[in-house]
Amino acid sequence: MTKKMPVLFVGHGSPMNAIEDNEFGRAWTDIGKKLPKPKAILAISAHWETQGTKVTIMEKPKTIYDFYGFPKELYEVKYPAAGSPDLAQTIRNMIKLTDVQPDLNWGLDHGTWSVLVRMFPLANIPVVQLSLDRSKDPAHHYQLGQQLKELREEDVLIVSSGNIVHNLRMMVFDENVKYNWAESFDSKVKQWILTGDHEPIIEYHKQGRDAELAINSAEHYLPLLYTLGIKDEGEPITFFADKMSYGAISMRSVLVGS
Ligand code: ZN
Repeated sequence: MTKKMPVLFVGHGSPMNAIEDNEFGRAWTDIGKKLPKPKAILAISAHWETQGTKVTIMEKPKTIYDFYGFPKELYEVKYPAAGSPDLAQTIRNMIKLTDVQPDLNWGLDHGTWSVLVRMFPLANIPVVQLSLDRSKDPAHHYQLGQQLKELREEDVLIVSSGNIVHNLRMMVFDENVKYNWAESFDSKVKQWILTGDHEPIIEYHKQGRDAELAINSAEHYLPLLYTLGIKDEGEPITFFADKMSYGAISMRSVLVGS
């Protein structure tokens, strides 16, 4: 039997994690060293929201600085990985759920590069991004993930990037602040991931006030649904980061497979 590539969901948090020496950046570097070297990477980032699903098809995706007010050195980071028109085409053929549109305008947003610059600093693995179609419901994103499973057998590493709990309005620049709703929702999702109970994760709008506060705009949560849709039953789960940051951002990161 062919060995399947693991699958990742990375809680990316602040773009500064790309350059600041902290436990998150170090955790991403460590996991990068442990992973088998992929032939290509498919990234699904919270920061590319579209109408309809799109996939980047250019040879040379640009590094996108989709944030404001950060130090100059963050705008100097480049992630010059090649694209892969072949992989983009494979994905377009593989997804039956919707007609995936080729895209020549996007590139690599910080949800993707802030993580990859730590995980694969040589930038020598081609990267393709898939967008989040915000006109669709959560179940659609999960099903779209299910249709990407085969990529794992072709040595493609699928990295989804967001945050399980993400509420910028409630965020405080004090690492000692703890919100019960954030801790509680994060730990519920952790348990559901471990027991393979994906329904309450997909139907997060039925999970009450904790979920409402944790997922106030959903774009950071939806990438997790791809990772869980791709996962096969019974596969091992490892959390390679699990801290809450600024009270309202869960950095919980998930490795599926080994
Ligand atoms: Zn983000």
